[in-house]
Amino acid sequence: MKAAVWHAKRDIRVEDIPQPPDPRPDEVTVKVHWTGICGSDLHEYTAGPIFIPTETPNPLTGKVAPLVLGHEFSGEIAAAGKDVTNVKVGDLIAGDAPMHCGDCEPCKIGRYNICDSLAFVGLMGDGAFAEYVNIPSYAAFPLPEEVGTDAAALVEPIGVACNTVRRSGISLGNSVAVIGAGPIGLLHLQAAKAAGADQTFVLEIADVRKEFAKNLGATMVLDPNETDVVQAIKDNTGGLGVDVVIECVGGDECDGPTVPVGLSILRRGGRMMVAGIFEKNVEINPNELVFFEKQLWGCLSATPKDVEAAVSLLKENKIQADPMITGRIKVDDIVEKGFEELLANRHKNLKIIVTPQ
Ligand SMILES: [Zn+2]
Ligand SMILES: [Zn+2]
Repeated sequence: MKAAVWHAKRDIRVEDIPQPPDPRPDEVTVKVHWTGICGSDLHEYTAGPIFIPTETPNPLTGKVAPLVLGHEFSGEIAAAGKDVTNVKVGDLIAGDAPMHCGDCEPCKIGRYNICDSLAFVGLMGDGAFAEYVNIPSYAAFPLPEEVGTDAAALVEPIGVACNTVRRSGISLGNSVAVIGAGPIGLLHLQAAKAAGADQTFVLEIADVRKEFAKNLGATMVLDPNETDVVQAIKDNTGGLGVDVVIECVGGDECDGPTVPVGLSILRRGGRMMVAGIFEKNVEINPNELVFFEKQLWGCLSATPKDVEAAVSLLKENKIQADPMITGRIKVDDIVEKGFEELLANRHKNLKIIVTPQ
């Protein structure tokens, strides 16, 4: 079958590889329809290996590079192991990325996304830039007929936004600031609104992305290069700051001022969620937390409950996926029209989705 295989940094090859074996008793084989290119895939391309095991096989998957990338995907169940009960052959599904052990302390209390042995499909094991992929059956979520498999390629990142928003405690009438209007920021914006956020501020510097944020319902889009964002947010929240801040940038674009800025626009007693991934240490003043009882929380990936919520939000049209899809390409073109296009025109693109068909 055809697949996009990561060999090394800047070396992703579209190759003919053997199809996955028959699924194990608790696995399914998915015939892939669409797979989104994620920021972490891009990182593996430009600066990898980051998550990809290259010397020691991943303990959960037993895999080592070269391996097939792709962890935001949808498709049809082509085969199911004998113990699988949640889906059957022919079902259309959205795939989820995290794989867990089921035995460690976090797993025992349902916090699978912080499992001691957490591994991701398409990073620590073979993924979905391929015609077929084997995944644990718990990572397959049946799709209602209202949700197409193109939109369903965004279920995994929407699940990430659902985890953040659920843990942030956002409720009706809250004010929320989202830092960064890339794909993850825009999904968090939509999920915050779906959870009841009233006033939503988006901080973004790229013009195209400011437009995306406005079109997806941000109350106010603020450019930190043009506006004193701390003052502007205070002026619009009765001098208080926002109830919740969600950081969706991380370190690669701005080397970290997003965290101190986020804390300075947060109201006393408010909660800041950090969803970005950082490449360097960030300096903050802990007194900002102590004196005002501000909370600083990290969030990673999603639990199965969040992925179920993601499917419902798409079904009920409370999150729009279509405006987020800025490119549809074939796997043969993944390097040129996918990875290279995202690098050359980073701000113009949100999600590029790839089909192996
Ligand atoms: Zn991703
Ligand atoms: Zn575990």
